[in-house]
Amino acid sequence: MLKRGLLIVISGPSGAGKGTICRELIQKTKDICLSISCTTRQPRFGEQHGVNYYFVSKRDFEEMITNNQLLEYAKVYDNYYGTPIGYVEEKLNTGKDVVLEIDIQGALQIKKKYPKGVLIFVVPPTLSLLKQRLSDRGTDSEESINNRLNCVCQEMTNTTRYDYLVVNDKLGNAVSQVEAIIMAEKCRPSRFDIKKFLES
Ligand code: 5GP
Repeated sequence: MLKRGLLIVISGPSGAGKGTICRELIQKTKDICLSISCTTRQPRFGEQHGVNYYFVSKRDFEEMITNNQLLEYAKVYDNYYGTPIGYVEEKLNTGKDVVLEIDIQGALQIKKKYPKGVLIFVVPPTLSLLKQRLSDRGTDSEESINNRLNCVCQEMTNTTRYDYLVVNDKLGNAVSQVEAIIMAEKCRPSRFDIKKFLES
């Protein structure tokens, strides 16, 4: 019997580098897939439908909520974001690990539905570096950056609700740490099929 994959949630403030970590992770490991979220926010320059997000209308998003097509969803900075259920379940059932890059509201919903899911919080080494990264990205207005920074203090108080915290100082180190977490999680006795072993 095929073992179900691991559900990994990666959260952290915008600019912490969680997107880059996720991309590196899936490039390095063929059995890890990245879930693509739906959002009602407008695409930023260079973002593509079906690659970065599924960009949908508010009406379509609310229909997905009503039809139970989302694993979790949240309103972040006045826009809806949610994880389509179909892709995640299909991959987990075929033994693939799935990474969700989502906010804390979504992460906590996932932990309730999938207690074996692993929650990882990524932080930048300093707050001033975060400010710098957000301005350098050049994709957000000053108002949006200030709004995001105001949310950081609140988000940081919730890090204890996560299973792991990774400081993204050097990208390579942060990716190695996430890989090590995934490897260790797979060795938990609770994931071992004792019944199958005793029959072997
Ligand atoms: P951004 O607008 O910068 O792409 O994302 C804003 C925030 O929404 C980020 O913290 C991101 O992790 C979060 N986010 C993206 N997709 C989802 C999702 O499907 N569900 C939830 N709950 N949050 C999401």
